[in-house]
Amino acid sequence: MTSAVAFTDRNAMLQSMRQGEHCQWDIIIVGGGITGAGVLREAVRMGYRALLVEQKDFSWGTSSRSSKMIHGGLRYLGLGDFKLTKESVTERERLVAEAPGLVDRTDFYFGMRKGVFPGRWMFRILLWFYDYFAGIKSSGYSNAQQSRQRFQGLGGDDLKGSCYYTDGITDDSRLVMRVLQEGVAQGGSILNYVKVDQLLVENDQVTGVRLLDQTEEGADLDPIEIRAPVVVNATGAWADKLRNVVNSEVRVRPLRGSHLVLPHERLPVDGVFSFFHPADKRSVFVFPWEGATAIGTTDLDHGHDIDEEASITAEEVDYLLDGVNSQFPEKGISRRDVISTWSGVRPVIGSEKSKDPSKERRDHAVWSDKGLVTVSGGKLTTFRLIALDALAAAASRLPEPRATADDRIFSEPALDPAQLVPGDVAWGRRLLGRYGDAAQVLLADAPEPERHRIAGTDFCLAECRWAIQQEATVHLDDLLLRRTRLGMLLPSGGEQLFADLAPMFRELARWSESQWESEVARYRSILRRFYSLPDDSLDHGNA
Ligand SMILES: Cc1cc2nc3c(=O)[nH]c(=O)nc-3n(C[C@H](O)[C@H](O)[C@H](O)COP(=O)(O)OP(=O)(O)OC[C@H]3O[C@@H](n4cnc5c(N)ncnc54)[C@H](O)[C@@H]3O)c2cc1C
Repeated sequence: MTSAVAFTDRNAMLQSMRQGEHCQWDIIIVGGGITGAGVLREAVRMGYRALLVEQKDFSWGTSSRSSKMIHGGLRYLGLGDFKLTKESVTERERLVAEAPGLVDRTDFYFGMRKGVFPGRWMFRILLWFYDYFAGIKSSGYSNAQQSRQRFQGLGGDDLKGSCYYTDGITDDSRLVMRVLQEGVAQGGSILNYVKVDQLLVENDQVTGVRLLDQTEEGADLDPIEIRAPVVVNATGAWADKLRNVVNSEVRVRPLRGSHLVLPHERLPVDGVFSFFHPADKRSVFVFPWEGATAIGTTDLDHGHDIDEEASITAEEVDYLLDGVNSQFPEKGISRRDVISTWSGVRPVIGSEKSKDPSKERRDHAVWSDKGLVTVSGGKLTTFRLIALDALAAAASRLPEPRATADDRIFSEPALDPAQLVPGDVAWGRRLLGRYGDAAQVLLADAPEPERHRIAGTDFCLAECRWAIQQEATVHLDDLLLRRTRLGMLLPSGGEQLFADLAPMFRELARWSESQWESEVARYRSILRRFYSLPDDSLDHGNA
């Protein structure tokens, strides 16, 4: 049987650092989102001793709160950004090929209505280029009747039809975990709930970082200093904060985007439907996600402290409901249908504050200042290219990289899905996509009743057991909001599972009864404030 690689044991690593071991690295990466994970993956491939630290949980920032699309971004093509589009569709094809079950090709339909620009032919020309850059042929046109057959409840007399094409859908948080898993398997180290509170600067050069353990047990412990010739600042929307120690420029414009999650039955879609919102002509997507239906996104200047988790406002809820009801009027979707919400802050490299947020470019930028390489902006989709750019900027401070012929992000699974889960190939594929060959150990190590889907979801309790044992789960919310998404998919945040989860945490994480209770209180508070409708929301317009 395949062996499994556990995430770094954070307590053991911190302990050894306190004893003076593991204090010298080739690269220290700050930020455990997709950008940091990508840099770790590529750095270890090059043979560097690399450590990644994340102040909260892995993927806690923007990388668990995106629209989950692995896409070229038709918008960028519309804006004439051929380079970004080509790079993105090429990376999309790589991810779809390397990680089936984690990144899946999905049909996208764009609804065409009378009087809406661009019309059918202009759109089809864009799609032709889109396919051409990816080297595939996927686009076409469905008339109104075919579109209504494809999307139940799609309405309006002005519907002419829809242009269709393909892009990819993933779960962003699991994408981060899988990239981290690959990085660790090749010798990288990762620590969550460890914050860089200071850069160490000597002779006007960054020589390392000061770490603070952010867990309750670590709160009273002294900071730890570690060193490396290169520190990579992959902190996304936080990038200016760390960079401003060595360069006072402010470049990141934090833009918030929010989503609503509905039960699949209320708006059953098995492909992505997108449309121009009647209020501002921005594209909004209705898409299948983890067995539910999601609607998003908004795009607004965030204007809040980014250290506080982002959350949806009543106005954003109205905007998204108005949008979906303009396309699916007979469904009458209201606040009462919403199971959960999520909001993320996009690290956009700003041009001018006055510019319409949706017109800002979504490219990434890399800045090199005195040993600190800052990388911010960009997309999930292009994380590998972003990582390579960051490492190119660091190259002069590093030894010669190890040459490798293999440039796969994910190691090729030895198993096939039918071997893993005989009789349920789709589920086997999903598990292999998310865990690689370790999926076999994940299932084998769990008692038989845990190896089945939790009703109404594609997750199983064996994945929860695995996350607690192998994936550095520190809090209950890590498990229910990021390692799995059960808290956002099940009614009442998945409390029905507490009877199974409490003994698991007691046994595997050695939690006492009072620790479990305080974790439940913490989880409920996070869920209510950041993943639910705003408190005043039911009094607001579209109840
Ligand atoms: C609403 C929305 C929709 C999007 N949709 C898509 C999409 O469909 N497809 C796509 O390709 N892209 C999409 N994106 C963009 C994509 O999500 C982001 O570009 C990407 O997630 C950014 O990743 P990151 O690692 O740079 O930042 P993050 O994921 O935010 O990671 C940075 C991490 O750094 C940590 N950190 C900060 N300061 C410190 C410190 N001092 N010490 C330690 N750690 C620290 C933070 O806690 C955070 O976890 C979307 C973005 C948003 C907001």
